[in-house]
Amino acid sequence: MLPDSSLRAFVQSLPKTETHLHFEGALPFELLQRVRPEFKQPPASWAPDFKFRDFGHFEQELLDMAFSWFTSPDRYQEAGKLIFARHVAQNVKYVETSFASGMLEFGGLDGREVLAAIRAAVPVGLEVRIFLGIHHSGAGPKMLPVLEDALTWPDLAGIDLHGFEDAPIEPWTAPYWAAARRAGKYTKAHAGEFMGADFVRRILDELQPHRIEHGVRAVEDSVLVDELARSGIGLDVCPISNHKLMLGITLANHPIRQLFDAGVKATISTDDPISFGNTVTDEYIALAERGGFSRKELVQLARNGFEVALLSEAQKKPWMDALQNIAVG
Ligand SMILES: [Zn+2]
Repeated sequence: MLPDSSLRAFVQSLPKTETHLHFEGALPFELLQRVRPEFKQPPASWAPDFKFRDFGHFEQELLDMAFSWFTSPDRYQEAGKLIFARHVAQNVKYVETSFASGMLEFGGLDGREVLAAIRAAVPVGLEVRIFLGIHHSGAGPKMLPVLEDALTWPDLAGIDLHGFEDAPIEPWTAPYWAAARRAGKYTKAHAGEFMGADFVRRILDELQPHRIEHGVRAVEDSVLVDELARSGIGLDVCPISNHKLMLGITLANHPIRQLFDAGVKATISTDDPISFGNTVTDEYIALAERGGFSRKELVQLARNGFEVALLSEAQKKPWMDALQNIAVG
């Protein structure tokens, strides 16, 4: 079903953010086709109600696509130009994106060069903060010196724990997250996508991240939900990703409804659009059409994105003012 054109125009009019975007997972499909001509059509997972079997199924397909393209810093820059141009076209003003430490570990790339390549792709008028995404076993002997060095890279905004959520939290993790905070880096962690509320609480206690990626299963513990609402810790939620990847979760029953109603600062992002076929605009439209979100609530979600953004109040002001002035009827 095509979205109501007035809804699309409304979503377009909102200044928006995207704060949960894996750079390799944002690989533009036309670039994938250039190196993998057998991809005549987008992946089957772009179908609106596709469901991955499990995280392994999703990750295997994603890595297969990502490793085909991301073989050099130049490839990061070329992809970045297209990725960020699409943000600008959707009236997205602020982006946080992470590149995967696994690409340094297994792809032999230099982290400083990848960071510089992504930065060089950022167009005028878009604010971008770049993070290093680190998987649970990402600090082996080869990578530990790289991770330590990364905390001195001036343009690296912060770090994010990602990958298989049910893999152990290794002993290096909490001290490294603490070192990152001391180095002035912003810290995030994926939790509450596959593991439950207990895991979200454990990550909050042990890693003390500034923000949680996904976090939707926090909804299973009302005390935790209240704590999240009171603390103002943001959850960077990706409804379409969850619809296609989380067991038992759909856009119609998505916990963002309860989290939002409880006052949790939820933001909206796409996660890995090469796997899900989604855009930021699609996420807002899906929440309106299938998640029961009113236009006023969509405005609040957009505001939440700017509230968590790593920007000064003066930088945020024009976009917050614009959201304040949007008539929601
Ligand atoms: Zn993610």
